[in-house]
Amino acid sequence: MQMLIDPALIIPNPNLSILDGGITASGWGNVRGDTISKMYFDALAKRYHFKLSDPIKDIPQEGLDAILYGTRGEPLQLRYEKAEGFGVIRREFEGVINNLERRYRETQSPSMRADIEECMSETPCPECGGRRLKKSALAVTVGGLNIAEFTELSVTKCLDFVNALELSEKESMIAAQILKEIRSRLSFLQSVGLGYLTLSRMAATLSGGESQRIRLATQIGSSLMGVLYILDEPSIGLHQRDNAKLLNTLRQLRDLGNTLIVVEHDEETMRAADYVVDIGPGAGVNGGRVVAAGSLEDICAVPESVTGQYLSGKKHIPIPSQRRKGNGKSLIIRGAAENNLKNIDVELPLGKLICVTGVSGSGKSSLINEILYKTLAVEKNRSKLRPGKCAGIEGMEAVDKVIALDQSPIGRTPRSNPATYTGAFNDIRDLFASTQDARLRGYGQGRFSFNVKGGRCEACSGDGLVKIEMHFLPDVYVPCDVCGGKRYNRETLEVRYKGKNIADVLDMTVEEACSFFANQQKILNKIQTLYDVGLGYVKLGQSSTTLSGGEAQRVKLATELSKRSTGSTVYVLDEPTTGLHIADVHKLIDILNRLTDAGNTVVVIEHNLDVIKVADHIIDLGPEGGDGGGTLVFAGTPEDCAACEESYTGQFLKPLLEEAAREEPEWTRNGN
Ligand code: ADP
Ligand code: ZN
Repeated sequence: MQMLIDPALIIPNPNLSILDGGITASGWGNVRGDTISKMYFDALAKRYHFKLSDPIKDIPQEGLDAILYGTRGEPLQLRYEKAEGFGVIRREFEGVINNLERRYRETQSPSMRADIEECMSETPCPECGGRRLKKSALAVTVGGLNIAEFTELSVTKCLDFVNALELSEKESMIAAQILKEIRSRLSFLQSVGLGYLTLSRMAATLSGGESQRIRLATQIGSSLMGVLYILDEPSIGLHQRDNAKLLNTLRQLRDLGNTLIVVEHDEETMRAADYVVDIGPGAGVNGGRVVAAGSLEDICAVPESVTGQYLSGKKHIPIPSQRRKGNGKSLIIRGAAENNLKNIDVELPLGKLICVTGVSGSGKSSLINEILYKTLAVEKNRSKLRPGKCAGIEGMEAVDKVIALDQSPIGRTPRSNPATYTGAFNDIRDLFASTQDARLRGYGQGRFSFNVKGGRCEACSGDGLVKIEMHFLPDVYVPCDVCGGKRYNRETLEVRYKGKNIADVLDMTVEEACSFFANQQKILNKIQTLYDVGLGYVKLGQSSTTLSGGEAQRVKLATELSKRSTGSTVYVLDEPTTGLHIADVHKLIDILNRLTDAGNTVVVIEHNLDVIKVADHIIDLGPEGGDGGGTLVFAGTPEDCAACEESYTGQFLKPLLEEAAREEPEWTRNGN
């Protein structure tokens, strides 16, 4: 693999014209006004007979080649404005791609490199076609396959291949030991639910759950005993069907004489445990104690344990009595063919809560993240992304924007925090600037920012912390000794609102801030939603780098909830329940319902049955992972999915829906 300039990233949307900003490469985007790039494009347009207002897809191939790869020795006539009339210079054009490559080689500036890297993607090496080996090595074959062809097979296929190998007596003797090793290692991978992975799959493209399960598979083989294994949410990304396999693997390791400590929210895993430790009872400052420890029954018997209440069924996530009908419009993805998708058409009804399901590797991320999200983002948000392969998406006019709500950190620097991210901090600074104290001293709202000079402590530039470089050891951060970690200078801290200064406010939890700002509607709107999504315990000024993935995701959800909804946004979430306790899953579902009730469309990739059962519409991919997947197994309501025998998801959904129907009297259930 090599990082090369990718034409598809220079022109992410060929329906736009050059004037519309269709060429987004670093340094070439600005063609309004008298820029150098405009001068070149004008000259190219004249030579190759196109207009800068033409959609780029209509520019003749010869012209497009010249734009990307240059005029190859033939100079252009560049016109420039002079005091009177125009001047002309003759100059050769190197082409946007060559220009980027040259600047990438020559530049010393990291930000310019980063800028140009946005137009680069990993491309198989043209020499070996991505196979990494020389021709002579590839000439050696076993059973008709060379090593590159063999490693391109999935684990399951490799096993089939090895088992079906026909060998002569002599060959068998040589290969016996090797084949035994290969067989056992491949079956370990299969037993942790990874049979769909190809052997050559690059480690960097594996999800966290996948790599953890690979490491687990290598351990089963080692037959060690007396080892303490610590696993962090190994069930992430696993379909219920494969969860059972994983649990068996864990039991096997235990029975060999080892101890396993598993951090997990998955109900089945908790039920399979010999001993459960429940920590809480709440989150953040409200947690940190052992609430209950013992067998499952012991946990259920402790009323203070939220986990116990859900496990015993005292609390549960209800199934909605009615499924939303949607707004009648839909997006239709035509000919989806990214990764393993088998040229399928998929309809997403708008205005519904849609759940995309299927075993690991069935193609969910390929369909939703690679195709749906990226296509919409390029079309609606003008993002620079390269959408996955499909023939097109119909119905996009009914959507105004797409937003991915993932668990990546909010903001890029430690300086962002819930208050800045939600925008509440702007209003808080306005409020402080409007106090009499501030007005007497002539302080504007900029005075209360820790990002600009004026009000912040200059000893730490408003960080509150000072970095001490330790040579050979990781950097150490200590509180600034000038401001004592308060981030502002003394004068700024003398300004108070209701007795609190700006540093005190940043140190408040969301819950405290909600009552402190009860009369400040604008501020309250923004922080109330943080409270609603279950973040009452987080401090307003808590640095984004210290928030967990789940917390960051909920800050993003809260921010979306506090905006005035357009009612035609598509939200995309990839396994949002990762790392969430059942009680938090419950809250998350409430938020997704609020977004959907406002008319928006919410698309969730999820294995969690509680989320699946409350969806309005299920899209089930599969039936298997990898090559055996990539088709549409089922689409429709959860009730119909439960009745669909081909759907693995349906099989696990069925008992849940039946149980709920038994519990609730007939008349509370509607329709279905
Ligand atoms: P899911 O989201 O349902 O787990 P994916 O869409 O991630 O499934 O994967 C579908 C198939 O494509 C799987 O066989 C997977 O191994 C393969 N795949 C996913 N990402 C890549 C990639 N970057 N390179 C090669 N193959 C990939
Ligand atoms: Zn300081």
